[in-house]
Amino acid sequence: MNIHEYQAKELFERFGVPSPNGKVASTADEALAAAQEIGPDNLVIKAQVHAGGRGKGHFKNGFQGGVHLCSSPEQVQEIAGKMLGEVLVTHQTGEAGRLVRKVMVAESVDIDKEYYLAILMDRESGAPVIVASTEGGMDIEEVAESTPEKILREGVHPLAGLQAYQIRKLASKLGFAGDQAKAFAKLLSSLYKLFISLDCSMVEINPLVVTPDGRVLALDAKFNFDDNALYRHPEVKAMRDTEEEDPREVEASEYDLNYIGLDGNIACLVNGAGLAMATMDIIKHFGGDPANFLDVGGGASKEQVAAAFKIILSDPNVKGILINIFGGIMDCNVIAEGVVAAARETGLELPLVVRLEGNNVEAGKATLAASGLDIVAASTLADGAEKIVAALK
Ligand code: ADP
Ligand code: MG
Repeated sequence: MNIHEYQAKELFERFGVPSPNGKVASTADEALAAAQEIGPDNLVIKAQVHAGGRGKGHFKNGFQGGVHLCSSPEQVQEIAGKMLGEVLVTHQTGEAGRLVRKVMVAESVDIDKEYYLAILMDRESGAPVIVASTEGGMDIEEVAESTPEKILREGVHPLAGLQAYQIRKLASKLGFAGDQAKAFAKLLSSLYKLFISLDCSMVEINPLVVTPDGRVLALDAKFNFDDNALYRHPEVKAMRDTEEEDPREVEASEYDLNYIGLDGNIACLVNGAGLAMATMDIIKHFGGDPANFLDVGGGASKEQVAAAFKIILSDPNVKGILINIFGGIMDCNVIAEGVVAAARETGLELPLVVRLEGNNVEAGKATLAASGLDIVAASTLADGAEKIVAALK
């Protein structure tokens, strides 16, 4: 799960990570009031969407930039009017862009230098890693590509936690000295505490800045939380903004389904994450394009299967469906009953290829046969993928 920058700021405050004063607004008048409170000058207004690159983005109405420095509350109000209700396109949103429903008004600060600082879960070591760079404020992927030596990485032992010597090492490599090094140390240890306490999978500050008066501040924030740990943090879960998410994924999460929307036209309904990955691979292998990842899990009910089936049918890109079930804990007949119920309700007209194997497969096949649905049966994974790709041609 992701959150907005203004929400990240609340968490920063709670954990003592310094960042400029800011307030969220949903209308131009609210933005004016916020600016008057924070002002009088030295203001910045920032579009709130779950995507980076806002500063260099553009609005579909022609207005340039999702981050603007302003010198008066009236100017904030005027720009808020140009951003709110408009669609912002950045290199992270794709062509479609994102509708801006909120803006954040904050104190603007003078910047001496911009840095990059992030903490994320490193899959290779299975532990947190601090990533930092003197090349802040820009696209970090580009820095990693062109000047990889400018990216510092410091692994953290998950039980021992972040050590003082590690912070000193990073501070010195980034060129901090004296009071700035102390300020950086305090910020990084607070950030690490936040990362661990809230079960984050990533916190990214780009840019982290040093001001002429020597303060070290987080000017931007991108957070990612481990969904499986969200139940431990109801206050974080409450920050979820489903308007920013793929509607297919929002619906799937209501039914506890592991669903990820993709751009292809062959929908897949599979049990088991590994089998779901293999199914997408083999669809690709035969020249097709998967429309989604969907693992209905081992203990799905008929209702969950029906909901899953309806979600994949609601995607207008979907032109065919491949169901691939290897029943272990999963009962093949539960799948069959869910599929038949959903297909009846929605009046299925797309090609449907089904490969069923394992637990209670005979009953499952009988349910499908008795349903009168037009189903192409497949015997193996490869056979199923070949048939659905062929059906679309
Ligand atoms: P994004 O990464 O989405 O473009 P940022 O929050 O990083 O958005 O803002 C883009 C740039 O705007 C920053 O790199 C920084 O130079 C400037 N900026 C952002 N917030 C402030 C602020 N409070 N004061 C001064 N400059 C800011
Ligand atoms: Mg940024």
